[in-house]
Amino acid sequence: MAPRSRNLAAIVIGVVLAGPPVAALNLWLGAIAEQQVVRDLDSTALRAVGLAEGRLARAAAALDDLAARGVDGCRASHIEALRQAAFAVTPAKEFSVIAPDGRTLCSDHGSTVEPRSIVSSEPLNDSRQHLLDLVRLGSGGKQWARVRRPGAGESNGVAALIPTEMLVPSVSPHGGPLNARIQLTGRGGMVIARAGETAAANVPADDLVSAVRDSRRYRLRASLTASRADLAAGQNDLRLLGAMVSGMLAVLILTLAFFRPKRRRDNPIDELERAMHAGEFVPYYQPIVDIRSGRLRGAEVLIRWRKSDGSVVTPAAFIPLAESSGLILEMTRDLMRRVSREIGPAFGKRPNLRISFNLAARHFADEEIVGDVRKIFKTSPLKLSQIVLEVTERQPLDNLTETRRVVAALQGLGVRIAIDDVGTGHSGLSYMLKLGVDTIKIDKMFIDSIATDRNSHTIIETLVDLAQNMRMDVIAEGVESFEQVVQLRELGIRAAQGYVFSPPLPGPSFLQLLEAIEPLKEAAAPAPAGLAVPAVPVAAA
Ligand code: C2E
Ligand code: CA
Ligand code: CA
Repeated sequence: MAPRSRNLAAIVIGVVLAGPPVAALNLWLGAIAEQQVVRDLDSTALRAVGLAEGRLARAAAALDDLAARGVDGCRASHIEALRQAAFAVTPAKEFSVIAPDGRTLCSDHGSTVEPRSIVSSEPLNDSRQHLLDLVRLGSGGKQWARVRRPGAGESNGVAALIPTEMLVPSVSPHGGPLNARIQLTGRGGMVIARAGETAAANVPADDLVSAVRDSRRYRLRASLTASRADLAAGQNDLRLLGAMVSGMLAVLILTLAFFRPKRRRDNPIDELERAMHAGEFVPYYQPIVDIRSGRLRGAEVLIRWRKSDGSVVTPAAFIPLAESSGLILEMTRDLMRRVSREIGPAFGKRPNLRISFNLAARHFADEEIVGDVRKIFKTSPLKLSQIVLEVTERQPLDNLTETRRVVAALQGLGVRIAIDDVGTGHSGLSYMLKLGVDTIKIDKMFIDSIATDRNSHTIIETLVDLAQNMRMDVIAEGVESFEQVVQLRELGIRAAQGYVFSPPLPGPSFLQLLEAIEPLKEAAAPAPAGLAVPAVPVAAA
């Protein structure tokens, strides 16, 4: 897995692991919010009972006071007393004197009173000293609450008229609109007042919460019903807390994913990544020789894994994994930078030399490599015209059209493209040649049997012909003997690489060889020595 995919995987695992605690936290906060909702509703019920108790008690006390002062008729002094009571007891609209048969004889306004009918009546308290009537004035539909204190025996009593809406709260405990339905009833079931009627309309019964409170003082009951959602709308603090905690956990997961231990040695991909960051992948250079002049043409970069214990691992052991994991892209960039640093100065002074790199099929899947090459060699003494990029015929190319586009873009930079391992591929040479490459490298397989197998000889001849027609260069690979060199030369091949000249060399050895066979021209210096052809193999350092 590529590092980016692993970070993604770490995040996914983190989210999966953190999911249950976050869900539990939200459930817990949800439960707290639910309790809070029920508590709020209950306290509204208590407040409703308290409000009704208080207002009715003030009216009842004023009636007791009038009775104590002997107000039982409609004399001027009685009317004056009624008026004082109406002034003192705010929620009461009217104080009046009532006949034993229930007729209103006079009120604080005087002797002319609207006729009124009692809709229903219940004792207000257990002592039955006061009654609570629901009355209708004149022909109006509106009902009023009336606290009545009947007179003793056949004498008149007194009463106070109160608008029913004064007996129920109209705002929520938080001061907002009341988002609950309230009903104030007498103990006998008489409905005294209602408020917030529309609050819980059209809400499914499951989503409703309710609270009921009885008055201890009077025979009253407040019943409240509300929709859970409406009440929860007031729980913004808890929701904010839930969102904050979930957010903090998300940040924690991302942080942990970012700083997760990067080195798990049991995972070979992690091990490759670690080795890459430790700079354990190094370039070796195998000279490519002009077999007519013996002069150096350049070199092919072959990667090696030089471990901290000094052992050197060849690419077959790690390149396939680097390619399948995607690490090859970073690995190649890294290698190119190293090569640029290591041999850039020497090659910069010898502009005819070329250096070739091996690319993987996935390098040609998009144009990333084009930007990489441009950027890496922009400031290098190595010129883009000295770079050769090899694409192997061994691995099938996913998308010929895209590969062609990438090849063309690279050639546009001045870079040359070579087909490697020609003759071994799945795709066939004609397919590969559609890429419009500059060089073909004939695989060791054909070179090995050049002397013994007539077919190999013919194939090489054909390839050379083809290359000449298409103005491509030919390089023979894996050349191990003097005889082979002679035969290749006879076949018209000019360039070769192989153990007969040199194995892949570590940087310093390669630079030494370079200085020996391609010294920089100075005024009095002798002509370059070149490699004897066939050359005495150069021992690996
Ligand atoms: P290749 O590109 O075909 O490289 C030539 C291979 O043949 C090299 O093996 C080289 O050491 C070996 N060789 C050269 N001359 C002779 C010879 O005369 N006789 C014999 N028997 N072998 C010779 P090496 O270095 O083990 O590399 C193996 C393969 O690994 C390369 O084959 C190339 O496909 C791949 N490779 C090497 N470096 C890189 C790299 O940086 N990136 C990628 N993607 N692949 C690489
Ligand atoms: Ca190669
Ligand atoms: Ca090859």
